[in-house]
Amino acid sequence: MAHLRPYPAAEKHMTPLDFPGTRVENWQQKGIEKLGEMLHKYRSLQVYMDICVKCGACADKCHYYLGTGDPNNMPVQRAELLRSVYRRYFTPAGKLFPKLVRATDFDETALQKWFTYFHQCSQCRRCSVFCPYGIDTAEISMAAREIMDAIGVGHKYTTEIVGKVHAIGNNLGIPGPALTGTLQFLEDDLLDNTGHEIRLPLDQEGADVLLVAPSADFFSEPHISSLMGYAKVFHQAGISFTISSFASEAANFGMFIGSFAQKQKIAKRIADKARELRVKRIVVGECGHAWRVAYSFWNTLNGPFDFLDPNYPVPQHICEFTHQLNERGALVFDKEANDDLTVTFHDSCNVARASRMGPSAGGQFEIPRALIRATTNKFVEMDADTIRERTFCCGGGGGLLTDELMDLRVRGVLPRITALKRVMEEDGVNYVALICAICKAQFNKMFPMYGIPMEAVGGVHALVNNAIQIGAKRGIV
Ligand code: SF4
Ligand code: SF4
Ligand code: SF4
Repeated sequence: MAHLRPYPAAEKHMTPLDFPGTRVENWQQKGIEKLGEMLHKYRSLQVYMDICVKCGACADKCHYYLGTGDPNNMPVQRAELLRSVYRRYFTPAGKLFPKLVRATDFDETALQKWFTYFHQCSQCRRCSVFCPYGIDTAEISMAAREIMDAIGVGHKYTTEIVGKVHAIGNNLGIPGPALTGTLQFLEDDLLDNTGHEIRLPLDQEGADVLLVAPSADFFSEPHISSLMGYAKVFHQAGISFTISSFASEAANFGMFIGSFAQKQKIAKRIADKARELRVKRIVVGECGHAWRVAYSFWNTLNGPFDFLDPNYPVPQHICEFTHQLNERGALVFDKEANDDLTVTFHDSCNVARASRMGPSAGGQFEIPRALIRATTNKFVEMDADTIRERTFCCGGGGGLLTDELMDLRVRGVLPRITALKRVMEEDGVNYVALICAICKAQFNKMFPMYGIPMEAVGGVHALVNNAIQIGAKRGIV
């Protein structure tokens, strides 16, 4: 089938990331050694290899299986691609009687299946919610990708993007002057629309907050409206902030390629810039996996963040930031500004299942919903089996938002679209709010293919952008 397999990375994509440029000669041996090293290093991986009882509870929980019907997309079967190789080289039965225990050689056939199916996993963790043993197939996919990178078999889209972040500072490869021009243009737009000088400062030393947003927020629709929303919140609250030209990207594709070293290097530039700019806080914009990396890994990767103001959480999500200001009465919203919209919320997997937000358990579910309720009059939930920790991935996460995987993306979004269409038909929903840059881009492209207008998706802060009353009340810092 076409458009179900990613393009392999070329030497020019691999070497800047310190991976072998092409497949190494003794790749089988190197791959097995790498697996052994990782089993030793990551206790969880060893456990996941051993404890699956093949109960089948995860089998029909993956959106890619539901969309493609390919048995290799059942989480248990996907993991089996690695597990069968593990059994062959790391268990006595697999070494002696491979056929008896369905152990597989790490040969060309196995490698090709790995390349296809570990790049048909968006690392969304939905399957792990249903596994009685908590096996995380996303982690297994990351491990397989790390092994493939180590033997010189990389994924073009993700490695190319990591290269751009190292060279330029963001995923889109936007150079500093283009970013400056865009921010100036957006400031003019904000002035025209509100009559207020609402700033989007770049590289401003001594600002209170470093805002790290996904680069799509600067250049893409529907993302830009969220950026305008963030700027209005800072303005209204009277809190100074800055964007950094070299850390102008929250996303961290190091996670998608399963590389600790790359993840660390990408995250480090944010910590370094925060120090250089002498900010007191770091706030992360609407990006699902970026928030996962920031919330779950920043401290381990680049901590401690003891140079920041200890009175604020590190990191802080933009939704948490806006919500707290609203709770303290610093913001005024006119809900009627969004009265043309009946809104539902798509929980982005990396926020829902791999992080938290705010001081209370479940804040990652409640805080964005509280903001939607504060800024709109009409909010409807999708089916309970498809939201919160059971949410379905948009189909484009995990480094799969690339055109050569278009068929996979169209099929993978199907479970989400099915739940969405129901509330569109039954409740008149015409807007899906969310807090992930990849989900926005994926839905924007997928919706028209399913007869839904592409404008029916946008950020939670796009609703804030519409409803916030500038100048209505001075913010509380
Ligand atoms: S992590 Fe998500 S994409 Fe990967 S196998 Fe599980 S449900 Fe499927
Ligand atoms: S639910 Fe867990 S134990 Fe059951 S088949 Fe899936 S991974 Fe294995
Ligand atoms: S893109 Fe959004 S929905 Fe898809 S995996 Fe990432 S967070 Fe989840």
